[in-house]
Amino acid sequence: MTRLHNDPKLFSLQMLEGFVDVHSDRVQPAPGGVVRATQSPAGKVSVVIGGGSGHYPAFAGLVGHGIADAAAVGDLFASPSAEQIVTVSRAADQGGGILLAFGNYAGDVLNFGLAAQRLAREGADARIVAVTDDLASAPRGQEDQRRGIAGDLVVFKLAGAAAEAGYDLDGVERIARLANDRTRSLGVAFTGCTLPGSDRPLFEIPAGQMGLGMGIHGEPGIREQPLPSADELAELLVARLLAERPAEVADRVAVILNGLGATKYEELFVLWTSVARRLVAAGVTVVEPEVGELVTSLEMAGCSLTFCWLGAASDELSVLWAAPADTPAYRKGMVASAARKTLVQTRTAAVETTVRASEASRRVAALVVLGLGAMSRALLLDEDELGRLDAVAGDGDHGRGMVRGCTAATEAARRALARGAGGGAVLTAAADAWADRAGGTSGALWGAGLAAFGRELREQGLPTTDELTRAVAAAVNAIQSLGKASLGDKTMVDAAVPFVEALSAAAAEGMQPPAAWSVAADEATAAAGATAQMSPRLGRARPLAARSVGSPDPGAISFGVCMRAIAAVL
Ligand code: ADP
Ligand code: MG
Repeated sequence: MTRLHNDPKLFSLQMLEGFVDVHSDRVQPAPGGVVRATQSPAGKVSVVIGGGSGHYPAFAGLVGHGIADAAAVGDLFASPSAEQIVTVSRAADQGGGILLAFGNYAGDVLNFGLAAQRLAREGADARIVAVTDDLASAPRGQEDQRRGIAGDLVVFKLAGAAAEAGYDLDGVERIARLANDRTRSLGVAFTGCTLPGSDRPLFEIPAGQMGLGMGIHGEPGIREQPLPSADELAELLVARLLAERPAEVADRVAVILNGLGATKYEELFVLWTSVARRLVAAGVTVVEPEVGELVTSLEMAGCSLTFCWLGAASDELSVLWAAPADTPAYRKGMVASAARKTLVQTRTAAVETTVRASEASRRVAALVVLGLGAMSRALLLDEDELGRLDAVAGDGDHGRGMVRGCTAATEAARRALARGAGGGAVLTAAADAWADRAGGTSGALWGAGLAAFGRELREQGLPTTDELTRAVAAAVNAIQSLGKASLGDKTMVDAAVPFVEALSAAAAEGMQPPAAWSVAADEATAAAGATAQMSPRLGRARPLAARSVGSPDPGAISFGVCMRAIAAVL
C-alpha cells in the first residue's frame, strides 16, 4: 500500500512537485507535465512521452538528454489529457517536429491522437507511436493490439538518441517504429497494488502463486501458476521471448530486466544470472543490459523481461542503444553539460470574457449546470462501485476519472454561466474541462460528446424532444467516431445508442423532454446492465475478455447513472 500521502487525490501532483524540486538541474515543470531544464539545439526533433503516474521512472524520470524532451504526466494510472500533451509539447518544441510516444492503452491512444491533431492545426508536424511490446496481451498476428510495458523505455531511448543525433522527424519516427517492432516483453506479478487512499488492492494474487502476463496498470494476468524458482522463471520468460525472435536479426539483443516496484534488486540480480546463462546457451549475445526499476506499477511485486533485437554492432539500433543519456532516472555514458533554459512560462489562463447570451439560452445554461451538478453527485456516490467494476478487467480508475471529469466540468460550466454564457458556450466550457481533467479513455470520449452536444444545441431556448434527440445523437456520433466502438463491443456505446433510440421513439410519440428523457434513461440503465453478458472487443478490458463476462461495462453503467441524474433534474 501507499503509506505516505496527504490528500490521496493530490498524490500525483505532490509527487511531481517533489520530483522537479529534487531534479531541478535536469527537469522543470511545464503545464501538463515536465520538460528538460537544459537547452536543446534549434531544429531538433522533440520526443514527447507520457502516460499515467504510478510507473516511476516512467514517464517523467526519463526526460533529459538522450531520451525525452518532455513528459505529459497523467493522474495515477490515467492517461494525460490531450490538453496536457499539447501544452508540454509546445513547451518542448524546437521547430524540428514532435514525436509523441506512449504505451498502447486506449486512453493514451485517444488523447495522444487528439493532441497530434491539435498540434498539426497549430502548424507543428506531430507523429504518434504507440509501444506494443507486451506479448501476453494479444497473440501473434495482433501485435498492434498489445499493451506497452517496459519496452516503452527501449523505444523512447532509441528514438531519443536518434533525435539527439540530428535525425529529422521522418527518421526519428522510423527508428521508433523499428525499435517497437524489434521489442518484446513478458511480465509476472507476485502481489497486486493499491491506489493511494484505497483500502484494498486493485487485484490480488493468492500467496504462493504468480500471475503471468500482468499489465503495468495492474490488469490481471493471463493465468496464475505456483511461484517458480528464479531458474524456472528465467526459463519460462526467456523461452517465450526467444520464440518471438525475428529471423533477420537473431543473435544480438538489448535486454531489460525490470522490477515492478516491490521486487528487490538482489532478487533481480539472482534472476539475471539465470537469464544471462540461458541466453548464452541459446547463442545470443547480450548487449548493454539494464537491470532495475524502469517502468513500475506502484508497489506491485513482480518483474518483466524485455528483449530488443539489434543487428550487427555497427547497425543503427546498436549505435543508438549505446548512445549516452542523462535523465533523472536513466544515465549512460558521458553527456557534455548543456546550458540551462529559462523557466518555461506557464501559459496565462485564457481571459474569460463576459458574454451575454439571450435569456432563453441562459435558461438552458442554468439547466446544464444543474444537470452536471446532479451527475457529479451521483457519480461521487457510485465512485467506488465504478472503480470495482473497472478493476474486473481494466485498471480500476473509472470511478475516480468520472468524478474528476464531471466535477471539473460542473465548475467550468458554473463559471461560464456566471459570465453570462448561454447553453452552447456553457457546454463547450464543460466539455473542455472534462477532457482536460479526467484523462483516460472515458474522459476524452465524454469531452468529445459534450462538445458535440453543445454545438448542436447552440444558443437556443429550451429544446423540443426532437431537438434534444438530435443533439444527443450528435454526441453519441462524436463518441463513436473518436472511439471507433460499435454496438456489442461492450463499451459506453452499448448504453448510449439505446438511450438515443429510446429518446427518438419517445419524441415520435409526442412526449415532452422530461418524460422522454426519463424513459430513455431507464432504457440506458437496463442496456448497461445487459452488457454483463458481453465480451469486450475494445479498450483496456479486451485482453481479459473472458474475465469480464458476468460483470457489466463500467463506462456503460456510469452513462446510465448520469442520464438518470439528469432525468431527476428535468
Ligand atoms: P481507461 O480505460 O483509460 O482506464 P476509464 O476506466 O475511465 O478509462 O473508462 C473505461 C470505459 O471507457 C469502458 O468501460 C468503456 O465503457 C469506455 N471505453 C473504452 N474504450 C472505448 C471506446 N473505444 N469507445 C467507447 N467507449 C470506450
Ligand atoms: Mg479504467
